[in-house]
Amino acid sequence: MDINEWYKSAERGTSGDMVYDILGDWKEEIEQLTQWIDDLQSKMYINCVYCGHRYGPQDEVPATMAEALKEHIEICEKHPMSKIRIENAELASKLIHREEELEPLRENLRGLLEIHEVLKEKLEEKDKELEILRHEIRIKDKR
Ligand SMILES: [Zn+2]
Repeated sequence: MDINEWYKSAERGTSGDMVYDILGDWKEEIEQLTQWIDDLQSKMYINCVYCGHRYGPQDEVPATMAEALKEHIEICEKHPMSKIRIENAELASKLIHREEELEPLRENLRGLLEIHEVLKEKLEEKDKELEILRHEIRIKDKR
């Protein structure tokens, strides 16, 4: 427990209890690190270099060590891949949000393109009518 968490805690005991809690956390971490060192020195295990997660001994690992390592990397919170996975999820979420923001604009653009097509057709009709009128005027002028 962090000292600030302890101070805010309603059930906090004496400062001695707090020290005991903190030492308890450290004791656990020291035990994990000691286990890691023992594993490394025994050469029977392979450990994740980021969190110390133990694989092995080799005869107890179901698949190959490479496969076990690959499976662990996918869930290891301390592996840099975790940070990338989180960033990737955030970016994907932002992308989906942007897509949602763009959809009404796309809809407006489709509407404008349809109006543009209709106006273009009308303009072509008027051009044809104008051409016919010019032709009739030329015929009348010749008489
Ligand atoms: Zn790990």
